Amino acid sequence: MKQGKLFVFSGPSATGKGTICRELLKDPDTWLSVSLTTRAPREGEEHGVHYYFVTREEYDRTVEEDGFLEHAEIYGNCYGTPKRYALEHMAAGEDVILEIEMQGALQIKKAYPEAVLIFVLPPSLKELQNRIRKRGSESEEQIAARMKTTLSEIELLPEYDYFLVNDDLDEAIATARSIMKAEHCKTAGTAQALIDKYKEER
Ligand code: 5GP
Repeated sequence: MKQGKLFVFSGPSATGKGTICRELLKDPDTWLSVSLTTRAPREGEEHGVHYYFVTREEYDRTVEEDGFLEHAEIYGNCYGTPKRYALEHMAAGEDVILEIEMQGALQIKKAYPEAVLIFVLPPSLKELQNRIRKRGSESEEQIAARMKTTLSEIELLPEYDYFLVNDDLDEAIATARSIMKAEHCKTAGTAQALIDKYKEER
């Protein structure tokens, strides 16, 4: 039976990686991991759908039990990817998608070198600023600080396997699908099984 792969999507905030990941979820045999977080739910967020909202004690216990594939503290809140479900879904042949920030993505790369890391880029910093301004939730000062963070995040690009630029959403989704498809056509790890399959047919 085919083993699913682990695809990690990260990138600066407001690049639309969440939208891309949700769209990929519509494909059969694709599963999006739901993280644990200690942050409070925002309006419209549901427990078990957007996150599992947990106490710091529950989070710490999961760390102690080695229950996370990766975990990180971001702006004072803790986030982690539950290990068990991701491994179970991959074993069942499904591709597992993680939408996490960079510290976590780099932990994944270390622990699971076969994971595929995809960096979602904005078309330009200017366009990113426009998108954030449109949301209207941040001051000009906050936006300027965010652009600085964004640049330092983009410097991590060489650690990733692929990038995609989210200029046109449909095109970005198509590119993500192409990356996932190509990863399944790699000979590494599958060549011998394929050779055996053809030999068996003889
Ligand atoms: P937010 O609080 O806005 O939902 O998420 C803040 C950041 O945490 C986002 O960049 C999001 O991708 C990231 N994030 C969400 N879940 C996880 C996780 O399980 N692990 C890590 N490392 N980052 C996460």
